[in-house]
Order: sequence, then C-alpha cells, then structure tokens
Amino acid sequence: MAACLAAACSGCGGAAGAGARPASTRDALAHDNRTLTDRRSPAVTRGQAADNHAPRAATAPGRPARAVPASVPRRPPIVQDLIPFGARRRAEMLAYAIRHYGLHTYRLRHPQVIVIHYTETPDFASTYRIFAPDVPDSELHELPGTCAHFVIDRDGTIHQLVPLSIMCRHTVGLNWTAIGIEHVGFSDAQVLSDRAQMRSSLRLTRWLRCRYGIALSNVIGHNESLTSRFHHERVAALRTQTHDDFVHADMRVYRKRLRALGGCTAAGSG
Ligand SMILES: [Zn+2]
Repeated sequence: MAACLAAACSGCGGAAGAGARPASTRDALAHDNRTLTDRRSPAVTRGQAADNHAPRAATAPGRPARAVPASVPRRPPIVQDLIPFGARRRAEMLAYAIRHYGLHTYRLRHPQVIVIHYTETPDFASTYRIFAPDVPDSELHELPGTCAHFVIDRDGTIHQLVPLSIMCRHTVGLNWTAIGIEHVGFSDAQVLSDRAQMRSSLRLTRWLRCRYGIALSNVIGHNESLTSRFHHERVAALRTQTHDDFVHADMRVYRKRLRALGGCTAAGSG
C-alpha cells in the first residue's frame, strides 16, 4: 500500500479527465442501477470499444463468470473490520470505474486476479486509519480513497476491510477485476519471512482463488500488474503506472508456496 498509499496505489483524478467523463453522480448511480438489474446488458461502454487498450474479448470487463469449483478449501478465520463505504464512496468508485475502465458499476463481479501488496506501515491500526477516510490519495489525488479488501497483520490476523462485492482502489489497471490483499510490513522479504503472516496469507489466497476459480498464475504481486493479461486502463498517463511491492522474483516464491499448499479441494485444507 504505501507503495500503494503514500507512493500510489491507483487511480488519478486530474489526468482522469481524458476520455469518458462520468455524468453527475445521480445519473451515474441510476445507470449503475440499470446495469445491476439487467444482466443481459454488457457493462462496457461504447467508448471502450474504440479504446486501443481495451482488454481482449476473453477477459473483457463485464464478461460472464466461469463456473465456481464445487469444492473449495475451508475459509480461514477473518475478522470483519469494514471501512466506511457508503453511498458517496460507492458513487465515487462508480465514477472511477467509468473513467478508468468504461464500466458502469462499482461492483466487483467474478474477480479474476488476486494482487499481493505490503503496506509500509508498522501495524494494522495505522493501516486502517489510512484506508478508512474517503480522501484523495497522495499520489494520484483521486477519489474514492485507496483501500484493500484484506489486510493481514504480522501476527497472522486477517482483517476484511471491504466486501468482495465492491471494487477497491489498490492497483491501477486491475481494480475492475482484482481482489487486493495487503500485508502489514515494509518489504517483500519481511512478509515472506514472517511465518504467521505467510500462513494466513496463503490460506486466504488459496480459499479466494478456489472460491472464484482464479488460476495460480493470476495471483500476482503489485509490481507484476503491467504484465497481467487483465490489465486495462483508459487513462493513457496511467498505463505504465505500477508500484514496487511484490516483484516477480518474490512472487515466484509466493506462488510456489501456494502451489505446495494444495489445489482446490476440501482435502488437506487444514
Ligand atoms: Zn501495492
């Protein structure tokens, strides 16, 4: 996050003006409600069809979900510490989704990617205080405030900050389809060497990827965001924006451990 918060997690207000500007909040929400009630309608705008950086058809925003595996590992213990995400923040998330993805919804439907981060904070309390306020981020100066779906503390406690049904600003180009998992800490190495934190992280990630049918290769580090086949960003100035947290070499270690934990069956989920 710090890489994500202080330094920048996502979005960008000023530059975002290029391209599709959302209508008023009321109009946007009305549009969103129509989208939510009409599943036959693709959630992609006309503007996106002309966007050279639109995702490939097979991975386009708004595509139907794949089948969820019949059996998934047991859900790890999760402490609910939801940050305020009321009507205003949802409207801002909707406006962000329109600007950056051409999607008329703030909802996270059928996530296809899990992004791993570290916070650059010393504890959960300070992390919560950064994510809870709905204020422009310090890097891109855009609303809504940045966040993550989960934060894993040094002692292994898994905190959920945002429901999985809502998009969260944690990774430019991927917020439309990615679950964000933050780890309290200051480096990839610190997190990877913390046994309690890693145990919880791997259990959570395994449960999530099995629940949503997410391939192991789509569990990525923030620093790998630009090479994800799901990366999509309408704002030209942000198409090469990423952060330093969880580089490829360290994610190879993470994915190897995740693979060793087992596949998507209930057996051995511990
Ligand atoms: Zn990050």
